[in-house]
This record gives sequence, C-alpha cells and structure tokens, in this order.
Amino acid sequence: MDYLPLFYKVQSQDVLLVGGGQIALRKARLLARAGATITVVSHQVCDELQLLLDQHQGIAVIGEYHSALLDGKMLVVAATNDEALNERVHYDAAERQVPINVVDNPRLCTFVFPAIVDRSPIVIGISSGGKAPVLARLLRAKLETLIPSGYSKLGELAGKFRQQVKERFSTINQRRKFWEDVLQGQVAEQVFAGRLEDANTLIEQKLERADPHHQLGEVYLVGAGPGDPELLTFKALRLMQQADVVFYDRLVSQEILELCRRDADLVYVGKARDKHSVPQQGINQLLVEHAKLGKRVVRLKGGDPFIFGRGGEELEELKQHNIPFQVVPGITAASACSTYAGIPLTHRGYAQSVKFITGQLKNRTADLNFAELIHPNQTLVFYMGLHTLDHLSKQLIAHGKPATTPVAIVSRGTRADQQVLTGSLADIAERQQQAQLPAPALIIVGEVVELQPKLTWFGDLRPLD
Ligand code: SAH
Repeated sequence: MDYLPLFYKVQSQDVLLVGGGQIALRKARLLARAGATITVVSHQVCDELQLLLDQHQGIAVIGEYHSALLDGKMLVVAATNDEALNERVHYDAAERQVPINVVDNPRLCTFVFPAIVDRSPIVIGISSGGKAPVLARLLRAKLETLIPSGYSKLGELAGKFRQQVKERFSTINQRRKFWEDVLQGQVAEQVFAGRLEDANTLIEQKLERADPHHQLGEVYLVGAGPGDPELLTFKALRLMQQADVVFYDRLVSQEILELCRRDADLVYVGKARDKHSVPQQGINQLLVEHAKLGKRVVRLKGGDPFIFGRGGEELEELKQHNIPFQVVPGITAASACSTYAGIPLTHRGYAQSVKFITGQLKNRTADLNFAELIHPNQTLVFYMGLHTLDHLSKQLIAHGKPATTPVAIVSRGTRADQQVLTGSLADIAERQQQAQLPAPALIIVGEVVELQPKLTWFGDLRPLD
C-alpha cells in the first residue's frame, strides 16, 4: 500500500489553495463540501471560484504566492500550471510539515485526493496512488451504479439510533446482528423507497420487541424484463440479491435466475399455456405464507409485473393479509423486443400510437374489439398471440385492415437465440407455420415494421480507416 487511506476532518479548518483556474475550482468544490475555510492565492481567480469563495466565506488573495501564506494552514493544494511554482509550494509545505497535494504530480504530493463516491455520511474513496486515476474513476462509476443513493439516508438513520441500540443490546454480537438485519432488510427498503417515517417506526418497534428478529417479511414483486440480464433494473438486482426465497415463472431466463442470492430458495411456479404448474391462487398463498415466516420474498416475473402479469391479483392477496410489499417495474416485452429487432413502436409519419393487446382469447371472436384495431397510424402489439396468429390476422383483414399491413414476429426477444420473422397480415400465419419460431413470441402489426431494415445494423466489425 503506497498511501494510508484516512478521512481528514477539515470542517472550519484553514486550507490554502494555490491557483485560480478550473483545476483549482474542482479542488475548491471538494474542500468546500467538507466545510473547509479556503484561502485562494493567484494572480487571477475565475468567476466560478470567486462565487464559491463568496458562498463559503473563503478568501481570495490576488497576487503572488509567498510562503507566509502557509502559516496556520492544515492542508495545502497547489493547482497551477506553473511547475516551478508548484515545486516551490511543495518544499515550503514540506519544511512546515503541512500535508500537500500538487495536482497531477504524485511525486510532489504527501497526500492524494481519491475518486469519491459520496453517500454522506457514507463516503468511499478510491485511490490508485496517482498511478492510474482513470482506472480509479472507472471503478468509482461502477460503485456509483451499485450503491443506491438511499444509502445516505440509511447512514443518517443508523447514526440517529446508534446510541439507543448500544443501550438496548449489551454485547457487540447482538448489536451487529441487529444492524445487519436493519441495514439489509425491510428498514433499508423503506428508506430506499423514500418512506422515512415508516423506517423510523420499524426500528423503534424492533428495539422494543424482546426478540427483534421475529417479524413479518416483505414481498417484492419484481419485473425481470424480457430475458437479457442487462435489462434488469438496479433495484430488481438489489432485491434479487437479498431474497430469502424467489418464486419465478417460465419467462424468467436462467441467466437472470443466476443473479439471485446464492443461498436463496428458487421455486418454479411457472405457467406454460394451458399447463398451470401452480394455480394463481396457490401462488398468492405461497407468497403470503412465506412472508408470514418473516422471509424476504421475491416474486420474479418476466417483463413488467403489471403488463399481462397478473401482478395486481397477487398484491390484492398480500394487502388482505397486511403484508408489506413493493413493486419494481421491468422492461416489458413490447418495448424490448421491438427495440432489439430494430422496429420503433412509434415513428413520425408511420404510427402515433401503440396498443398492447392480449392475443389469448377465451371466447375466440367476442374478446377483441377488432373494429377499433383497424385504424391506420397505430401499432398493435400482441402478447400471447402466437397460437391465435391465424385467427388474429384473418379478423383484422375481415374488419378492414389492409392485407398488406406489415407484421413481425419476435421470438425469444433479447435472448441469444432471438429470431425475427416478417411478412404481411395476408401471409404471416403461413410463414410462421413453416418457420415454427418458438415461444415466447411477440407480434407487431403496423407500418413501423417496414423501418426494420433501416434501423438494424448488420455491418461487419472492420476498423474504420
Ligand atoms: N409481463 C410480461 C408479459 C407476460 S405475458 C411483459 O411485460 O413482458 C407473456 C407474453 O409476453 C408471451 O406470450 C410473449 O408474447 C411476451 N413475451 C415475454 N417475453 C418475451 C420475449 N423475450 N420475447 C418475445 N415475447 C415475449
């Protein structure tokens, strides 16, 4: 380790910043965020830096740097493009044993600024010891995406209860258990969902109870998207990685399941058409039972839980039993499949609206209002329509939609084995009869399908000259 990571308290401490340009400004912003009292010395101070000093009771010394400015300073930062000056500041600081940072010159630094992930009071600093700052920044970007912004509030909340928890639990082990439960469980989820008061109440309840671990679980109804794991939301991934038990259905891809917490129980409750492996009522009950055991239950659904996902029915049951729940939207098949197939659902001059329709018909003709579906300039997206494709296309034509209307079938959209079949209302059923693309498949009807060749990239990967 080339440097010892420390967090310095600079609140109300005097800090010297040599330089008045954009680089100095960046450092000044950081110092101001940590509450330092900043003195800037430079022949010129840019407007933004001057403004920042005005806002934070800083001082601008316009003129030449001289070593007396270092007196009484806790830190010094040299951010000028004058190498000789930077070097001078370095030696003056070293003589007075004031820690110094010279921007972009590790040789002259006695401390470095790390790349920062700020979820104050939680702060993460990443340093490459001045060797690979871009790598440190890339790592920071990764962490930024992994750590929900709610960690700030969670940190504040933990700070608020720290003393009470200490008084309530006498051993370190008990306290650690309590905090692990709070910081990874329902309390944390309430904070992330912006329900701070509920989170407060929950902690208070946990502190009052003799057995702080006995409590009602929670159910997360999570949209897993259409198959490509990269289309999961951050929130979906986080909840999947906390789950005690995951109930998933047929549309959830294997790759996505692999992202669930390693020791979570994965339970298949999927439904193939006409083959309900667990009837809906059974699934509803399973969710309730497991939550009552105090478990964190994830109900993982393909696409979006509220689009042909029966999510609403499951929630009604949870509500009846007073079980806390959250719903996480997912990317629905219509949106993902059309995008991955290069077909925009709306496009100027082609379609100004789009309809999501179920093609699963209980009572063949009566279910759909075909007269409404034949208007021009709209895109129709049929879910669950592969087995009724012939009927759907004939009905659309019979009700007046031109037989030449383009149609695309997107099979296993966004997955490695995605296939797209195009045709017209007149011939798509026959084409599918021959091609036999597998389910799940989505049917897109409308002029927008014509755009596919234009918006799909089939180039080869030769480097550009
Ligand atoms: N809640 C899901 C839809 C469930 S209904 C969502 O929002 O996407 C099931 C239907 O969704 C399937 O019959 C199929 O029409 C469509 N579907 C889901 N995933 C798909 C995929 N990866 N490719 C093509 N169609 C898909």
